[in-house]
Amino acid sequence: MASIHESTTLKISAMAKKLAASGQDIIDMGVGEPDFDTPKHIVEAGCSSIKNGETRYAPTAGIPELRQAIAEKLCRENSLNLTADDVVVTPGAKMAVFAAIQALLSEGDECLLIGPSWVSYEPCVTFAGGRVAWGSVDSNFMPQNLSESINSRTKLIIVNSPSNPTGSVFDRRVLEEIRDLAVDHNLSVISDEIYEKIIYDHDHVSIGSMAGMADRTVTINGFSKAYAMTGWRLGYLAGPKEPMKWVIRLLSHSVSQATTFVQRAGLVAMKGPQDDVGNMVKEFQVRRDMLIAGLKDLGISCSVPGGAFYLFPDVSAMGGGDAFADRLLKEALIAATPGSAFGPGGADHIRLSYATSQSRIKQSLERIEKIVK
Ligand code: PMP
Ligand code: GLU
Repeated sequence: MASIHESTTLKISAMAKKLAASGQDIIDMGVGEPDFDTPKHIVEAGCSSIKNGETRYAPTAGIPELRQAIAEKLCRENSLNLTADDVVVTPGAKMAVFAAIQALLSEGDECLLIGPSWVSYEPCVTFAGGRVAWGSVDSNFMPQNLSESINSRTKLIIVNSPSNPTGSVFDRRVLEEIRDLAVDHNLSVISDEIYEKIIYDHDHVSIGSMAGMADRTVTINGFSKAYAMTGWRLGYLAGPKEPMKWVIRLLSHSVSQATTFVQRAGLVAMKGPQDDVGNMVKEFQVRRDMLIAGLKDLGISCSVPGGAFYLFPDVSAMGGGDAFADRLLKEALIAATPGSAFGPGGADHIRLSYATSQSRIKQSLERIEKIVK
């Protein structure tokens, strides 16, 4: 426990909330959380489930109807050949990530992360007694020379496309290269697809659907981002029999299950109208373009991310990620996440979440202008 730090993203979020509560006009571009409300029909489904008395324990792996709906979704949208028995529902995708890593790694094993990666992967690997190897990426955050970071202890690669924190999207060709490495070195793959639906001008591809991958891939997804359900805590994972068996054991002795009425709401999210997702993504794209253009005018360039709701600009000219994030908070009252939170490759960057309104983005650009000029 002593070697693990608290999640930087959640820490910054708590700090931004505290400063805002004390009356400071903080623009929160720190945490990755949609600023939209959970769609009404999903909220109503959760409320009626409580009123109908669905307030008791459910099976550890989840309610059968939701596991079935998830399996159908994974077959239909992701070309994964899975059944309800292969699916486990979790309280948030974070628990799915944690459990999958504990199930797939043993003491001393290595896990390959590809460039700057989400804050919780490395601590989960440490909990499992493993260690992380950082695979290198090019200037567009695409993997390069990954095989150089693989050795006899490597057991797992984590793929996260669209990516947190870079927003990069791996196309089929890139995923095929990762597939080839996984097959050649007999590695497991965790594919964290939580930003699957928040994608612009790209098609999402699930690496688990590629030849040779079904028996070695655990696919993770959840409801937080696509359905603006962060606080509900609902996610899932699906994959081969062996790791899923360990995952169920771990859940049965820790969280027991995802909350019963939340699973009902999730079922309605999955089966109900999907218009809210599309509208949210359209709005995110407008904000992305606005923020990129505004930063460019201020001399801060950044690659155009194909997904998620983050920009990851290089701020080495402003003293690096830690120093600039600190200045943003102190001098501009903007909460941003220093890139170093995402691993050694992120130190020159900051992560800006554009899950905030267009007017707040405009204001943030005005404030940044004042400090960079
Ligand atoms: N994976 C990634 C890449 C994320 O950004 C998040 C966001 N917290 C999660 C997993 C976990 O999401 P949640 O636990 O809210 O479902
Ligand atoms: N995934 C989001 C982020 O990166 C939420 C916070 C967290 O769970 O880390 O900001």
